[in-house]
Amino acid sequence: MNQNLTTDRETFVTHLECSITGERYEADQLHGLSRAGRPLLVRYDLDAVRSAVSRDTIEARPTDLWRWRELLPVRYTANIVSLGEIETPLVPLTKSGGPNVLVKDEGRLPTGSFKARGLVMAVAMAKELGVTKIAMPTNGNAGAALAAYATRCGIETIVFCPDDTPEINVREIAMQGARVWRVNGLIDDCGAIVGKGAAEGRWFDFSTLKEPYRIEGKKTMGLELAAQFGWKLPDAIFYPTGGGTGLIGMWKAFDELEKLGWIGSKRPKMFAVQASGCAPIVRAFEAGEEHAERWEDASTVAAGIRVPKAVGDFLILRAVRESGGQALAVGDPAILKAVDAAAKQDGLLLCPEGGATLAAYHQALNTGLVDEDDKVVLFNCATGLKYPMPEAPQALDRTRPIDFDAL
Ligand SMILES: *Cc1c(COP(=O)(O)O)cnc(C)c1O
Repeated sequence: MNQNLTTDRETFVTHLECSITGERYEADQLHGLSRAGRPLLVRYDLDAVRSAVSRDTIEARPTDLWRWRELLPVRYTANIVSLGEIETPLVPLTKSGGPNVLVKDEGRLPTGSFKARGLVMAVAMAKELGVTKIAMPTNGNAGAALAAYATRCGIETIVFCPDDTPEINVREIAMQGARVWRVNGLIDDCGAIVGKGAAEGRWFDFSTLKEPYRIEGKKTMGLELAAQFGWKLPDAIFYPTGGGTGLIGMWKAFDELEKLGWIGSKRPKMFAVQASGCAPIVRAFEAGEEHAERWEDASTVAAGIRVPKAVGDFLILRAVRESGGQALAVGDPAILKAVDAAAKQDGLLLCPEGGATLAAYHQALNTGLVDEDDKVVLFNCATGLKYPMPEAPQALDRTRPIDFDAL
């Protein structure tokens, strides 16, 4: 853990706010959704932050997630639970992407996905606010990150995942100390079980956006991008969108950075990328709706974005529209082709959800939504190593003559 954390420091949080009605909620209390049933957003005294730190102070610190301490909600440093949340690199994808395409490779984070950003924050806040038992629905990666951080600070966790969740994710969750259950349904069916138990007072509900702090953790993706681009922002961001926490978080980060005077008013076009087999946000975007209806019979190889219904739908749609971006759907064949191209041509192993952003980039390029000169960031949200790979069955018998020309 870095040396910024050796002293306790007050947070700059002033209050929380309902994302739809603007109603105020007190800081330092346990909250779920707002009374209107919508996500709560954390608000800071940004004038005080500006007086306390500068861009230079931040840049002089070690490049990890906690360098953004003043823009994060944890009040007491002792409550921070860390597994080493590094700043993730921007890796050029010159051959399978193009000359101005960078991949923010989130697979390097603890537990191998960007869920670590959200959960490291949410768990620290749960610890701070005295939570002892947490339940969560997950497609895999969120459950793994929750299990890891909660176990590390002694919070009990119960995780529910669809029964076709990849085996490796389920085992990872169990291995890291959670009780994990496979449920014969989709993630929102799992969410219903979590909600029922929470209503009975059995545990705290950690579903995406149903507690306020995962957005704050995911916000650090936007903060990092600003610093990595020299306090400017890229022209376009392609984000694989399930619950949309990351897209909403980055949009919030840009807003806070502008209010601090650390960046200007220029924003990237935000592209919410979904799979054709589960594209509720794309459908709502195209229909001009403010909310997205549940997508029936959701199915895609990109399990992380198989989210039929998102409680923050209107926040995703709002950010995408304000940015001048779009919601785009790509089919499974295009996703798998993109994963293959990035690995074979650029040596970077993407997860399917990351592959979806590469496929969507090419779609956007072909339809003129972006052009080749645009500086573009694609999100690889998890390490490709957690996913099945094609067989490589060739074997060599060393006891027989070897045809070296054929190797
Ligand atoms: C959770 C997840 C997503 C979707 O992220 P959201 O911010 O919830 O939209 C995409 N890809 C992977 C691998 C994930 O685990």
